[in-house]
Amino acid sequence: MDYQKIIEDIYQEILPFSHQGKQADYIPALAKVNPDQFGMCLHTVGGEVYPFMKADAAFSIQSISKVFSLAMCLSLKGEALWKRVGKEPSGTAFNSLVQLEIEKGIPRNPFINAGAIVLSDILLSELEHPEEDFLRFVRSLCEDDSVDYNMEVALSERETGYLNAAIANLLKYHGTIENDIESVLMFYFKTCSVEMNCMQLSKAFLAFTNHAPFEYAGYRLSQSRIKRLNAVMQTCGFYDEAGEFSYLVGLPGKSGVGGGIVAVCPHRYAVAVWSPRLNSKGNSVMGMKALELLTTQTQESIF
Ligand code: GLN
Repeated sequence: MDYQKIIEDIYQEILPFSHQGKQADYIPALAKVNPDQFGMCLHTVGGEVYPFMKADAAFSIQSISKVFSLAMCLSLKGEALWKRVGKEPSGTAFNSLVQLEIEKGIPRNPFINAGAIVLSDILLSELEHPEEDFLRFVRSLCEDDSVDYNMEVALSERETGYLNAAIANLLKYHGTIENDIESVLMFYFKTCSVEMNCMQLSKAFLAFTNHAPFEYAGYRLSQSRIKRLNAVMQTCGFYDEAGEFSYLVGLPGKSGVGGGIVAVCPHRYAVAVWSPRLNSKGNSVMGMKALELLTTQTQESIF
């Protein structure tokens, strides 16, 4: 499969959409990013790498970090994790408070903010050095020790993170988080602030294609757990656009408001795409289009 040529052709086809949408500005540090950028990279399980345009430009991974947190929590807690957080699609926005109140503080799934805040609480309770361990895990997935937190982004989000603070308070009220609210939120914001580029992200997600035993920085997951993690990405990775992504792209994946999307084609490849302009659901406009065309042209999806 000539992925390089396919990606080049896709880019020409999606150019008309390059000014649609706008970048996230509710986190002031993200509002400063030049919105008119595009990068993509595909890593195959056979070791081939297909970078395109700004594949080496670092951006804020934001909610993509939730997949790393989930992998760590599943490795630490096993199936018992699901007592603390659900695995049903939410059909609501990533930062919605509504279900959380009705469902008495058990978040619908780990990929909405409420769920990931619970994951952060679990990591804080389980690990002696959660911030170092989180980075060590991500660095080992992408085999690159230069990956780091961006403190400007984390602090910027903390200053304006009123909705996430409300979510954390509601969780604490219902007894779903053990640690103090401030520590849980700060750790959550730090994990979201991690910066990676498309090459590093597609490399990191290769681990979730289930082509080899999963063991990174001491965190181990069985093949069956990786399949299940992919199932959660498939059903919950795009908030209230999970159905649309499944319909158009047909791969498990995860998006972030930094404009990144990563998707996994089990046993074949992992692909990352980045373009900061988002649609109304918080997903990258160009990113969604690029992946839709990729699976259409290659005829490689899970269906
Ligand atoms: N840090 C962002 C938030 O909590 C992550 C949101 C996202 O990427 N969807 O609002």
